[in-house]
Amino acid sequence: MSKPNFSTDALHAGHDFNAHAGTRAVPLYLTTSYVFKNADHAANVFSLAEPGYIYTRLNNPTNDILEQRLAALEKGIGAVVTASGMAAINTTLLTLLKAGDHIVASNSLYGGTYNLLNVTLPRFGITTTFVNPENPENFKKAAKENTRAFFVESLGNPKLDVLDLKAISAEAKAFKVPFIVDNTVATPALLKPIEHGADIVIESLTKYINGNGTALGGAIIDAGNFDWANGKFPEFTEPSPGYHGLIYHDALKEAAFIAKVRVEGLRDHGAALSPFNAFQIIQGLETLSVRVKQHSENALELAEWLEQQEQVKWVNYPGLKSSKYNSLAQEYLPKGQSGIVTFGLEGGFESAKTVADETKIFSLLANIGDTKSLIIHPASTTHQQLDEQQQASTGVTQDLVRLSVGLEDIEDLKDDLKEAFKSIKNLKTV
Ligand SMILES: *Cc1c(COP(=O)(O)O)cnc(C)c1O
Repeated sequence: MSKPNFSTDALHAGHDFNAHAGTRAVPLYLTTSYVFKNADHAANVFSLAEPGYIYTRLNNPTNDILEQRLAALEKGIGAVVTASGMAAINTTLLTLLKAGDHIVASNSLYGGTYNLLNVTLPRFGITTTFVNPENPENFKKAAKENTRAFFVESLGNPKLDVLDLKAISAEAKAFKVPFIVDNTVATPALLKPIEHGADIVIESLTKYINGNGTALGGAIIDAGNFDWANGKFPEFTEPSPGYHGLIYHDALKEAAFIAKVRVEGLRDHGAALSPFNAFQIIQGLETLSVRVKQHSENALELAEWLEQQEQVKWVNYPGLKSSKYNSLAQEYLPKGQSGIVTFGLEGGFESAKTVADETKIFSLLANIGDTKSLIIHPASTTHQQLDEQQQASTGVTQDLVRLSVGLEDIEDLKDDLKEAFKSIKNLKTV
């Protein structure tokens, strides 16, 4: 049989029902630990001489199925799931980097990621230079002798900038550092960063992949292509004191990174995904391609409609002809541009806050990717800790409203916004 396509993998990859009592649904294994056959078996599993389960902080059969499924969908060689998307980013960076290392990152990042790179990691001696990713050469210009990673989002949240991943990956290759791509907003149903040169893919499973707003989760997917023996990553080529002298690159070959994430990253930092959440997330993942297609259709129609409304000053959606990212969207996101739309209102900050307050179907909350429609005013909420200049670089303006367009009837969504706009009709532009 030829290799299955995306929708088939989303339903089947990683689940051999014969190995799980013939279960058609993926079973939920709620156990912290696993009984070894005997002491030799235990010793072998601990030394990685044979595969096996030890403790659910490291792996679990339900999580294992989710990991294999996500690796198949992103075209990677392996994956590790984590407690949240932020845990996936943090575990990746702490597995790769040490004090004194440096990252070059896009300046249009998710607020949590921006803060991790800008405030928290510097406390541990890991610094970041943020660059405008629209010119891929900016990554090379900002790279230094101690740079050890390039980090971007394939579709920036909330700026919705579509990046030229191939060009940035070429810069990363020339500089011999891994190219890390957060694929949360696009999802592998619309874009597979590994096909465009990403070495490591990050996903927040909390968003579209689960989709029903019930569980947090994250994933790290390894393309298996990066040459860890290029001289810049001695922790992969020298005996690891953290794993009784194991040399990751020799012992695990192309899986060196993802194995280190599991046996050192999960072991030491402990950001494991609850199998209960993995089970929930698998239910959502099964329908990802159908949902994301509909999210994209609804978002495009709503964005086009918003452009016609007199209260609306500007609309940003990469699928719009008016978007400056439209040609990159045609290249990288031809099947759809996902469900996030941003727009600005006459009356600026106050109008934006008012509309976020007044919608009935769009819920005011800090999340995206739910089947239900969501709304937020980032300048007064998710991005309030950033100063105005930092807000601007992450793509947040005072008047910006972010929608996560759900799967409700599109006419109801238009009516909901139309009603909310009535409450701002007396405000003047500020
Ligand atoms: C939400 C989000 C994250 C963080 O994921 P959590 O599961 O909330 O920790 C990271 N990156 C992007 C682009 C996100 O939208």
